[in-house]
Amino acid sequence: MIFLKTEEEIELMRAANRLVAQTLAELARHIRPGVTTAQLDAIAEDFIRDNGAVPTFKGFPNPYGGPFPGSICTSVNDEVVHGVPTAERVLQDGDIVSIDCGTLLNGYNGDSCYTFQVGTVAPATRELLRITKEALYRGIEAAVVGHRIGDVSYAVQTHCESAGYSVVREFVGHGIGRQMHEDPQVPNYGRRGNGPQIKNGLCIAIEPMIAMGVKDIYLKSDKWTACTQDGKPAAHFEHTIAIHHGKADILSSFDEIEQIEASAR
Ligand code: MG
Ligand code: MG
Repeated sequence: MIFLKTEEEIELMRAANRLVAQTLAELARHIRPGVTTAQLDAIAEDFIRDNGAVPTFKGFPNPYGGPFPGSICTSVNDEVVHGVPTAERVLQDGDIVSIDCGTLLNGYNGDSCYTFQVGTVAPATRELLRITKEALYRGIEAAVVGHRIGDVSYAVQTHCESAGYSVVREFVGHGIGRQMHEDPQVPNYGRRGNGPQIKNGLCIAIEPMIAMGVKDIYLKSDKWTACTQDGKPAAHFEHTIAIHHGKADILSSFDEIEQIEASAR
């Protein structure tokens, strides 16, 4: 069942997503070779709790194993999603790390992900990041009243596949609101004109997870971290949007992250 949101609810979700954006920007200031993903996780958890919210991912149940131990997901290089932060994972020059962050603030959820570069990253990998982020915005542009979810899926898929990349199938975007995962599912592959109608008040997270090589994945022994089978890198960018006055209103933001990235280069 799809819960369309009122104007008041959209403003509550905007606040939760603003905090996600601020958390990711805070992490951007700390990402460098030598930092561990556990250190990033601690920074994120403190930041979220200091701002009166709860990190939604912490303790999230897993059908295959134990609850998620971290406050953020940190997926490095060939790790696609749900990477578990650990003290052993030291970020190296040339790595990429996808940081997925969720907050629950005043009863509503925020959810956003950004793939960061650590030091100097290979040009081919930078291109994967550029195309994946672009695909997210292509999906957002397709999220207008009169379209269906399949139009969003198609826009993401064609943009990535035409660049020679593959769409990971096991994980999808989703409705979001009082629950982090609500209906409808928002796959990163699909057909135009298919799926639920896009209406005002619909709130969804669009999140392309795109592999440089094959789309197939396996789960690490921690039962969370999903990796590409060929070991090639994957990227993940996510925004939470609300359909408002017929088109997408992006509730999360990469603006501050991009300013920090630009000033570091
Ligand atoms: Mg997310
Ligand atoms: Mg999500």
